[in-house]
Amino acid sequence: KYLGALVKTSMNRCIQCTRCVRFSAEVAGVPELGATGRGEDMEITTYLEQAMTSELQANVVDICPVGALTSKPYAFAARPWELNKTESIDVMDALGSAIRIDTRGREVMRILPRVNDAINAEWISDKTRHVVDGLRTQRLDQPYLRENGRLRPASWSEAFSAIARKLARANPKRVGALIGDLAAVEEIFALKDLMTRLGVTNLDCRQDGAMLDPNWGRASYLFNPTIAGIDAADALLIVGTNPRKEAAILNARIRKRWLAGNFPVGVIGPKVDLTYGYDYLGAGPETLADVARHSFADMLRKAERPLVLVGATAFARADGATIAALAAKAAVDLGAVKDDWNGYGVLQGAASRVGALDLGFVPGEGALNARQMAAFGTLDVVFLLGVDELDIAEGAFAVYIGSNGDRGANRADVILPGAAYPEKSAIYVNTEGRVQMAARASFPPGDAREDWAIVRALSDVLGKRLPYDSLASLRRALFAAYPHMQRVGQITPGNPADVRKLAERTGGSTERTPFRAGVSDFYFTNPIARCSAVMAECSALALGRATMTAAE
Ligand code: SF4
Repeated sequence: KYLGALVKTSMNRCIQCTRCVRFSAEVAGVPELGATGRGEDMEITTYLEQAMTSELQANVVDICPVGALTSKPYAFAARPWELNKTESIDVMDALGSAIRIDTRGREVMRILPRVNDAINAEWISDKTRHVVDGLRTQRLDQPYLRENGRLRPASWSEAFSAIARKLARANPKRVGALIGDLAAVEEIFALKDLMTRLGVTNLDCRQDGAMLDPNWGRASYLFNPTIAGIDAADALLIVGTNPRKEAAILNARIRKRWLAGNFPVGVIGPKVDLTYGYDYLGAGPETLADVARHSFADMLRKAERPLVLVGATAFARADGATIAALAAKAAVDLGAVKDDWNGYGVLQGAASRVGALDLGFVPGEGALNARQMAAFGTLDVVFLLGVDELDIAEGAFAVYIGSNGDRGANRADVILPGAAYPEKSAIYVNTEGRVQMAARASFPPGDAREDWAIVRALSDVLGKRLPYDSLASLRRALFAAYPHMQRVGQITPGNPADVRKLAERTGGSTERTPFRAGVSDFYFTNPIARCSAVMAECSALALGRATMTAAE
């Protein structure tokens, strides 16, 4: 039976336990599997033999007790006893789901979920699980240098010398650095350190332009109620996000809470299928500004632990700072911020974002932000640490550090090949502020190196040597400057007073443009996913469905 790109079937093994049917209907919230016929004619099917549509569909492979449903991309690829198993964390979204990376030799063969009740329970999204082939496609395995408009392979020393020559002639005010969505804390720390030594203040980690400022306090950009806190919440207002696409596992948790009952949900933003019912309040900032007068507000006021969930993309617009203040004001006015419950939760989309904000990787006083740095004529040299979601205008000499040949590498004048997330031991901070450590399961291909080591080696050539020769000494410096980074597995909570202070910053004007969904294609949100043939097939199936629905 055909179930789509991710699940292979051997239905002669099916014992008709209906676990897959109940998973689809209850956990994923997309009831597309069912049983036809009765008795010996009973069959598990998607009725019309269509591909499944849920972002969590591949979890049915784990729950099928007999192997009737197996992983299609992994079929006949390896045997379990050939594999080395490494416990790590995922970076496909900002949740940091617990995963196990199975490798054979240097190659990542599959990714499976681990149980972590605080974040992902026992599920992972299809992107987390099946991005694997993107880790071996279009990998940057040696430095490249652009000459006469074309990239040519180069040695490390050639690449470093080219950067040094450009920097020697550049005014630090015309140099900038940007952080991509998959960067780990160590490389962000090293790059910030190097830029500071070079006198560069044009720094930004918000390539989407989100107006979040670490000076507002940590609670202004964290998912303060915590992911597990959703189970304790008793009313929810979703603002400017589609959590089903931006954090599929978190959305499943919201659905679980909704199924338990007495959980009114309101939405301001895109009107989409979230897999649970909700009251639709409006599309844009004017509804948010007026939310206290809406009838749904009474449900939040009556709740003991109301939760206001705001997508970080709601801040990625010109009026983003005012939106942040309005969202915080809504949370305060509706009783979501109390001494024993901070229900103001920002849902970040990028795995790197909270760590980079914690490290203050934002423009200094009077310096340029990401949009300004990307514009024509503002910079002479720009460092792109895995920046692939922002178009950098021609003119600036672009140095790209990253793992996959994607948009950033196409724009680059120098490419320094870095390590992908399974190839480095690295710290990430998830959207709730939980510090987590990814483990190294494999090694970078060819000449590629861990990103922090590239920055360290470059600093030597630039005559601004960073004072750490090993990952351990870098971490000692990191922990000395940011002590909360050493509390691995733990959340250092934000101060609720920061949310109250942010709520007082209202007063700026807002546009009438509705909030947009932060993710247009769930399967193509980062360079590794865009290099994956499996993700491309899933994306094409989703696009086909959308086109058919539009035609109908
Ligand atoms: Fe059949 Fe497996 Fe589904 Fe159970 S989980 S009904 S055995 S396909």
